Amino acid sequence: MKEDAFQALTVETLAARLSTVPAVAERVGGVAERWKVREVGDGNLNLVFIVEGEAGSVVVKQALPYVRLVGESWPLPLKRAFFEYHALTRQERRAPGLVPTVYYFDESQALTVMEYLSPHIILRRALIQGQELPRIAEDLGLFMARTLFRGSDLHMETRERKADLALFSDNTELCDITENLVFTDPYFDAPMNRHTPELDALVAEFRVDRDLKVEAQKMKHLFAAKAETLVHGDLHTGSVMVTAEDTRVIDPEFAFYGPIAFDVGMLTANYWMAFFSQKGHAAGGSRASMRTYLLKVIEETWAVFRAEFSRLWRTERAGMLYHRSLYEDQGDELGAEQALGHVLHEIWTDMLGFAGVEIHRRILGLAHNADFEDIEDTGLRATCEAAALRFGRHIAVNRHHIASLTEINHLAQLLD
Ligand code: ADP
Ligand code: MG
Ligand code: MG
Ligand code: MG
Repeated sequence: MKEDAFQALTVETLAARLSTVPAVAERVGGVAERWKVREVGDGNLNLVFIVEGEAGSVVVKQALPYVRLVGESWPLPLKRAFFEYHALTRQERRAPGLVPTVYYFDESQALTVMEYLSPHIILRRALIQGQELPRIAEDLGLFMARTLFRGSDLHMETRERKADLALFSDNTELCDITENLVFTDPYFDAPMNRHTPELDALVAEFRVDRDLKVEAQKMKHLFAAKAETLVHGDLHTGSVMVTAEDTRVIDPEFAFYGPIAFDVGMLTANYWMAFFSQKGHAAGGSRASMRTYLLKVIEETWAVFRAEFSRLWRTERAGMLYHRSLYEDQGDELGAEQALGHVLHEIWTDMLGFAGVEIHRRILGLAHNADFEDIEDTGLRATCEAAALRFGRHIAVNRHHIASLTEINHLAQLLD
């Protein structure tokens, strides 16, 4: 492909334009004129095509110079594809087997060719349908512990980590989306906000809730200032593709150096939203076992995350932080364990704060979740959303005073 001006691909032009790229031509096989090309993008930002041929299939993802959901009136730089590509390659190194394999990247065309995940479906869809996936807690707990630990100064050589910090610091516009849409807009009458009309009274309460607004700004402060590790940045259940046997994390275009707790909080929030929306999809039933399953997934994910993070702390703590010369090298194993306990406790409290805010913005802000949106009866939807909003407020404001997920999941059941 020519290294020149950006051109958006279409179903009609894709085969001709990519037929000379060996990574595509060899994998898809046969003559390009016979390739079957479909656009399947359901995200807010980008184009995604599936290309199928005699030998196989690939996915082609291309950024557009604007937000797909809104249109050309909201420009967004193509360089987000560059950050996605670099995040994917780092995640594959740090947590092998949990992201799609990347075959090819073209920076000027903001285009990535990657493994076509099939018969995978989006995790959010599976949870709305009431499917219990047996692997997600283990796989995603490991994904988070490995990527977040191994991208930080707990593990990396400091020069290399600082170079990566510099590389990803240019992902300004996508951070700006999160800073505004997640941490600010939901807490005032911002122009792009929307909510289910039956929530008017609760929304009015939230807008004058001083404690909540202070807490949300503390979380924003952490998001912006705590450049701890390479986070995925958009780790919701729509960024995970699953089968019963396999779990893959996609779409890391929001990647940047931020707090370890951000990814953990966002994913956990999306499980809690799946939980609070179940009654809206129950069609007469109660989805009782699915609701129990979701709370169990939350507890197991956190347990796996903690266990793997602790294992890496003990075996791969090779960076400049909490250096072994201060602890193990002096025979002070207890000191290293004490420091680990403090670090995990901070991730825990911050995770709860990020989760609370993420729940709010999905109900009050611009970008809503299918979990709630697919509930057609707005009265029923508002009942589910109100429980989630109250739950989110509780965990954000009381995050320093919550001891365990057992306790917090008990509260979720009371509110639901
Ligand atoms: P966006 O950044 O616009 O949200 P995503 O990367 O989330 O784009 O992709 C949008 C959709 O395309 C996904 O929800 C999924 O249905 C499909 N998709 C993306 N990557 C793959 C892949 N590697 N294999 C199969 N389907 C994919
Ligand atoms: Mg997406
Ligand atoms: Mg998206
Ligand atoms: Mg995306």
